[in-house]
Amino acid sequence: MTPSLAELLTTIDRLWPFAGAESWDAAGLVTGDPDAAVHRVLFTVDAVAETIDEAIAERADLVIAHHPLLLRGVTSVAEDRYKGSLLARLIRADCALVAAHTNADVVASGTSAVLAERLGLSDIRPIVPSNDMALGLGRVGRLAEPTTVGRLARRLAAILPPTATGVRVAGSFDDVVNTVALCGGAGDSLLSEPVVRTADAYITADLRHHPASESREQSKLSGGPALIDVSHWASEWLWLETAAAELRAAHPELTVVVSELRTDPWDFQIVQ
Ligand SMILES: [Zn+2]
Repeated sequence: MTPSLAELLTTIDRLWPFAGAESWDAAGLVTGDPDAAVHRVLFTVDAVAETIDEAIAERADLVIAHHPLLLRGVTSVAEDRYKGSLLARLIRADCALVAAHTNADVVASGTSAVLAERLGLSDIRPIVPSNDMALGLGRVGRLAEPTTVGRLARRLAAILPPTATGVRVAGSFDDVVNTVALCGGAGDSLLSEPVVRTADAYITADLRHHPASESREQSKLSGGPALIDVSHWASEWLWLETAAAELRAAHPELTVVVSELRTDPWDFQIVQ
């Protein structure tokens, strides 16, 4: 039986409970009629012009985006502004939009957990546990066999979808890595967590000069992780296929597609 959007929202809330979202977040239904029938679903990290084009071309009834299109307050959805334009196009195409953001980060099969599994980590646990110890932000775990910082970075480059900025590293290529901490998306807020300080490497995205520099300087005094900085989009894109499989399992009658479009904003890089 074809589910309604309301029924899908119940499933989404079971898979990635909205109550688990951070207080500043805006996960949930952005636009759409709960009574509408849903046949096709498109997963994407970002609701941007290209992925909305794709959803409308594919006749999707629902886009599930990791990043909320509306996070901070807006006072207009006029169509000369891109958010208004995207929303208007979704509404005219009878296509709903749901954000599954930090609520999808903290679950057992969330964004960081998927990356940890792809790296083959064991004894995986959250960096910042929620009340339920299996849940929480970030993941830390052990590699099956020791590797080096450089080889770990190369492995990541092979696992992640290609981006212009690739993988950047602060640390020595040949330093040994046993323990890896990671956080999909922008994870500089976890840099001072004890399990990150004692890990051999910390993988995250969007590392800025000051947090990265301060972490490396502290490491010279008291030890700390090599830093591996990857594309924000790429680090979270891996989760989409896991999420799509979970939604297909709950609703086998749905057609669930993962967008392959790169919504990482960087297009090229000049390496000096
Ligand atoms: Zn993100």
